[in-house]
Amino acid sequence: MATWSERDKKVVWHPFTQMREWSRDPQLTIVRGDGPYLIDDQGRRYLDGVSSLWCNVHGHNHPRLNQAVRGQLDQLAHSTFLGLSHPPAIELAENLVRVAPSGLTRVFYSDSGSAAVEIALKMAFQYWQLRGTPRPRFLRMEHAYHGDTLGAVGVGGIELFHRIFGPLIVRSIGVPSPTSAIDSGETPEAAMVRSLAALDSAIASHGHEVGALIMEPLVQGAAGMLMHPPGFLRAVADRCRAADILLIVDEVATGFGRTGAMFACEHEDVRPDILCVAKGLTGGYLPLAATLTTDAIYEAFLGERAEYKAFFHGHTFTANPLACAVALESMAMLEESALDWSRDLARYLERLLREFVAPLPFVGQIRQRGLMIGIELARPDRSPFPAEEFRGAKACDAARKYGVILRPLGDVLVWMPPLTLTRDDADLLAHATIRGIEDSCG
Ligand SMILES: *Cc1c(COP(=O)(O)O)cnc(C)c1O
Repeated sequence: MATWSERDKKVVWHPFTQMREWSRDPQLTIVRGDGPYLIDDQGRRYLDGVSSLWCNVHGHNHPRLNQAVRGQLDQLAHSTFLGLSHPPAIELAENLVRVAPSGLTRVFYSDSGSAAVEIALKMAFQYWQLRGTPRPRFLRMEHAYHGDTLGAVGVGGIELFHRIFGPLIVRSIGVPSPTSAIDSGETPEAAMVRSLAALDSAIASHGHEVGALIMEPLVQGAAGMLMHPPGFLRAVADRCRAADILLIVDEVATGFGRTGAMFACEHEDVRPDILCVAKGLTGGYLPLAATLTTDAIYEAFLGERAEYKAFFHGHTFTANPLACAVALESMAMLEESALDWSRDLARYLERLLREFVAPLPFVGQIRQRGLMIGIELARPDRSPFPAEEFRGAKACDAARKYGVILRPLGDVLVWMPPLTLTRDDADLLAHATIRGIEDSCG
């Protein structure tokens, strides 16, 4: 009988995957989860070192989250949010408004981080149109990642995507990211001055036509866990406010405890005009996203039906009740203890990184903010490996043999474990990573 993997290779097309390689190489089929572990169809256990692409918060197969889904399932699995409402979405919106940075008072639901960003862009665009002063352009950070739909690609700064989809995307104005290559010698302070000067000049030349600036707060995740210097988010927020440019903060990756706070904005007391959340919102259980905004933006859309000022956006599964119910439970668990535990865990991981990972000859730089960690591989002289050697991917493949699932960003190995990892699990994460690096780079 054909294995799951053989059947997969006949009919499935995987995201971000060269399918020729996929079909040739052995692949895992995951059949069960158990806390931070994933179990394959052969019964092998793997630590989920990247939280199933950064969304899992409390581990897999969690009794409380399972119960939240089951409880809601006995009531209602889905009903439309266009023209109808339901209790789980109302309660979750109340909860999001309570914990979000102050001033964010309205919740618009969707089902992925990319959709949350599309909504933020359309909301900002239509807001300025409704005000009678159209400002159709967007500012974005270099190397930014905001999702894979066309609007999100347009305000992202991933060169490869622009090369392929250039003619289709929203045009935006890039601002240099305040991070320097590891072998450049530039200090974070100098990088920040350089970046803010470029932002000032972009505002001076285009400010009147720019409706919003979009950015990932503190950490540019997909770019390779690039860390912004302290004060950068605050400085950008101040400049946006002064130039009357809306600030869209994309907390899809950083939200729900990843940086040691519920939202990364809290670290610099920033109150964005629009906030996007997704990934960790449901604890990683179900697809759900939200775009939060202020009274000022919300009220600009109010009017008579015939004025056609409504916000024209919605998806079939907007505000799915099962997803809302599990999100409520996940947020309750974060507030009860998971957020506190994650801060201890971040400190423990920091120690492991300093003592055991940083000294390796093929580790060029380690970047950490809470539970968002990038381990950048490099040659012993800190120069990068040639990209075509795919050292990052090879190190991750090797780490699997030691029982840990990782996924790289180029030559940056990512640690982004569930917040509930124990110290023993953390030790396994470090052990497998070290062996993976040694096997693939040595
Ligand atoms: C993952 C991610 C997105 C896209 O979210 P999807 O749910 O994958 O569409 C957007 N922004 C950031 C910062 C992300 O990390």
